[in-house]
Amino acid sequence: MTVWTGDLKQQLAEAVASSPLHASRAFMAVISREDFAGVIPAASVERITSELQLTLQDLMQECIPIARVYSVAPISNYHVGAVARGASGALYFGFNMEFPGSTLAETVHGEQAAVTNAWTHGERRITDMAISAAPCGHCRQFLHETAAGEDMQIHLPGGMGMSLKSLLPSAFGPKDLGITAGLMANVPTSPFGKGVPSHSSMARRVAEQALQEGYGPYSRCAAGIALQLTSGDIVAGWYAENAAFNPTLEPLQSALISLRLLGSDPSDIAHCILVDAPGPLDHRFRTKELLRLLAPKALLTAYHAQRSMRKSSPGETSLNG
Ligand SMILES: [Zn+2]
Repeated sequence: MTVWTGDLKQQLAEAVASSPLHASRAFMAVISREDFAGVIPAASVERITSELQLTLQDLMQECIPIARVYSVAPISNYHVGAVARGASGALYFGFNMEFPGSTLAETVHGEQAAVTNAWTHGERRITDMAISAAPCGHCRQFLHETAAGEDMQIHLPGGMGMSLKSLLPSAFGPKDLGITAGLMANVPTSPFGKGVPSHSSMARRVAEQALQEGYGPYSRCAAGIALQLTSGDIVAGWYAENAAFNPTLEPLQSALISLRLLGSDPSDIAHCILVDAPGPLDHRFRTKELLRLLAPKALLTAYHAQRSMRKSSPGETSLNG
């Protein structure tokens, strides 16, 4: 059983105490909330920059060490912090995640987490991304695959902003495969995963809604996941497919990002419901093994979206437990 060690609240408090942001009442009002989950609303961003006389870029840089607190990097010990600015003006924290006992293919990069955080809060695009170090090639590709990604500005510590386009010239992307939309073009129509009452039909609905938000235009195998926690809360995640295939984010990884942001742990997962569209991929392939590693006591139920339309859902399969 994996436990994401350390008291997240305590670590956040320490990072904030050593940050100039602690002098902002508006910032403290946001970060002190019991339900803070790595999002600074647009109105708060305006108040913080006004109180501290900071530029938006300064504020994003100051948030990086705080976003980095969420990083789970027991293999590399290389902790990445990322801060995305959505088109709404809100800021979203991102961080890297590694999973000992699996493979490096399961790794979540900080920029992917920031995009997922923004996307699950209804953002359609990212205008700016501040990162603790230069984005790796994998992330340049992932960011390029977001809607309007080519217009995104990248900000590194101590440096000037630069366009993603300049970091990935002659890029391969969705348009090369005839897709004009890109990641984040879909937006959630309802809030996910926070304090939803516990019962399996609700978890199924969340998983099926996540499937709708999921993005799989190349394989046509979108997928959504709902993690039902022992507390009764439900956390959703969805598939984010890339034209370049390998930077693709699986639905379980997406849900684990939200789980971490909520301050929960894989040991809190009671039941994982995976819904996918039938086709050439099988999302159980990776979900099953990673879930077994992180939450061996959790029940995994997987079914195809078509079958879910039947009342009795005869296609459901319990893979463990
Ligand atoms: Zn990366």
